[in-house]
Amino acid sequence: MKLNHEGVLDRAIQIASANCDERPDGEAVSLVVIHSISLPPGEFGGDAIERLFTNTLDYAAHPYFETLRDVRVSAHFLIRRAGGIVQFAPCGKRAWHAGASCYAGRERCNDFSVGIELEGTEDIPYTNQQYEALTALVGALLGRYPITGVVAHSDIAPGRKTDPGPSFDWERLRVAPHRG
Ligand SMILES: [Zn+2]
Repeated sequence: MKLNHEGVLDRAIQIASANCDERPDGEAVSLVVIHSISLPPGEFGGDAIERLFTNTLDYAAHPYFETLRDVRVSAHFLIRRAGGIVQFAPCGKRAWHAGASCYAGRERCNDFSVGIELEGTEDIPYTNQQYEALTALVGALLGRYPITGVVAHSDIAPGRKTDPGPSFDWERLRVAPHRG
C-alpha cells in the first residue's frame, strides 16, 4: 500500500468529499488522528458514513441523522469492518475531522493532520482486518510524511471527544515506516 505525492492511497476506494480545503501554506502533515464512527451509532455496514462525508445523507432515514443536519465533516480515510479503505480527500488537502483541538500546544489540528476513521464504537472491539489495514496505512503515512505523533481524537479534544475509545487497543498498532 502506498501514497502518491498528492497523498492518494493506491489501495483505497476513492470517494471525493467537498468537505476539505487547502492546508495553510507550506504546512506538512505531521500528525495522524484516529477516530471512530458508525451510523446510526452501533450499526455497521450501509452507506451512511460515505453519505455524511459527501453531504448526501438522507436526514429522514433515521432519527439520529436529524442531529447531523448542517454538519460538514470528512476524514481522509475510513476503514470498514472488513478492512476495506475508503479515501475522501488526498492527504495533501485539509479534511475536516478534528474540530477544535490542540496537539503539543498547537491548535486547529486539521491544519497539519491526517484523519482516519475506524468504523466502530467505543465499546465493541475493532476487527483484526481493521488493525491490519490501519497498521499498513499508518506505515505508508510514516513513509511519506514527517509524522511526529499518532493520537486519538480524544487526546487532542479532551472533554469534547472520546473516540476511538477504550475498545481501541494501541498495542495492536505496530507500525514500521514503509517506503514503497
Ligand atoms: Zn473523532
